[in-house]
Amino acid sequence: MPVYEYVCPSCKTDFELLRPITKMDEAAKCPDCEVISDRKLSVFASMLMGSDGAMLPMAGGSGGGCCGGGCGCSA
Ligand SMILES: [Zn+2]
Repeated sequence: MPVYEYVCPSCKTDFELLRPITKMDEAAKCPDCEVISDRKLSVFASMLMGSDGAMLPMAGGSGGGCCGGGCGCSA
């Protein structure tokens, strides 16, 4: 379940909520003053999404040597 970040427009408090993607657009209330707050773009959430595709080749390449085809090694 992704973490979403919110910032309260009234008291400027930053807070995070763990909620299902299906509820990501629902209003979130500030824990301090209960004003409906705006969702910020979450760096953490975008990292989770990236790990499915873009980050896997990097992880494999760093631990698997040079035999991925880039250096001509035929092992
Ligand atoms: Zn607030």
